[in-house]
Amino acid sequence: MMGKQESKFKCRVCGHTEYTEVRQGNGILGPGAHSHMIHCYCEGCTTVFRDVRKFSVAETEAEGAKSKIVP
Ligand SMILES: [Zn+2]
Repeated sequence: MMGKQESKFKCRVCGHTEYTEVRQGNGILGPGAHSHMIHCYCEGCTTVFRDVRKFSVAETEAEGAKSKIVP
């Protein structure tokens, strides 16, 4: 199962602002159904990550105060 989600996301690899959340259900349909996130990936570069907030460029960071990511 896949769900598209838009939020304040900016890929720190390519700068894309959309990602796809990949979820897995527990096999139950209807009441009792439950799904959990397996991982997310960037729609731009398809880099897989799990923590959106950690992977996304932080707003303060995007302003470019001091931190730079050196490959
Ligand atoms: Zn990306």
